[in-house]
Amino acid sequence: MKFRSKIIDKRILSNDTIVLVLEKGSISFKAGQYIVLSFPNEKEAREYSVYSGENEPNLEILLKTLPEGSFSMRLGDLNVGDPILIDGPFGYFVMKPDEILSKPHVFVASGTGISPFRSYIQTYPQMHYSLLHGIRTVNDRIEPENYDPHKLKYCISREESVYFNGRVTDYLIKYKISQEAIYHLCGNSAMINDVTNILEASGIKPENIRTEVFF
Ligand SMILES: Cc1cc2nc3c(=O)[nH]c(=O)nc-3n(C[C@H](O)[C@H](O)[C@H](O)COP(=O)(O)OP(=O)(O)OC[C@H]3O[C@@H](n4cnc5c(N)ncnc54)[C@H](O)[C@@H]3O)c2cc1C
Repeated sequence: MKFRSKIIDKRILSNDTIVLVLEKGSISFKAGQYIVLSFPNEKEAREYSVYSGENEPNLEILLKTLPEGSFSMRLGDLNVGDPILIDGPFGYFVMKPDEILSKPHVFVASGTGISPFRSYIQTYPQMHYSLLHGIRTVNDRIEPENYDPHKLKYCISREESVYFNGRVTDYLIKYKISQEAIYHLCGNSAMINDVTNILEASGIKPENIRTEVFF
């Protein structure tokens, strides 16, 4: 279902990361799905995972603006009140209802790949989860106040800090991999391939590894 929405708020998190708050209209989505955005009267469109929870009054997306990209910079330049077309929701990166509360979940994200996990956690706050977030610097942390600090592990690859120094793959190799958990991976394809290989080599069954590739 395609409809005309508008920007109702904008949270600028850093020089290249923004949360856009969009009018939800009558859209109903499952946490983990994405929407397709386009500008009025234009054909070009891009996919964005929904960052907000299923029951929140607005629709939020987490946007990284890429100077080399044709779409994300323009999206990031939109102001409150500007129109935007929303199509969707689409996608199958949703949690299985019978597993949400009965299984432990490990969420592994790189960069903006944290977006569907934020939606899961907002929607199902009682679930048993841990979230590994791979970012380059401490300043790349994205709204940490949304997560229980005991469940959120930062893997910081480009600077020393109080957090784990290295990539999510280094973290998984160093610490014990739970055999009971369902693994959900989201972000760039290199990370997803590397993490999948590590998990499978540790005995995790392919059906317990769920993935969403952004690029
Ligand atoms: C299912 C799905 C969900 C997505 N959800 C999000 C989301 O929640 N937030 C978001 O910012 N983007 C998301 N993306 C990516 C988004 O659709 C666009 O590709 C992105 O905004 C870049 O568009 P662009 O035209 O500016 O640059 P393009 O010319 O399309 O891309 C330029 C290059 O930037 C890199 N790139 C693309 N996206 C990212 C990113 N998010 N972070 C770092 N590098 C990137 C790629 O290497 C790409 O080749 C998602 C993509 C898919 C397929």
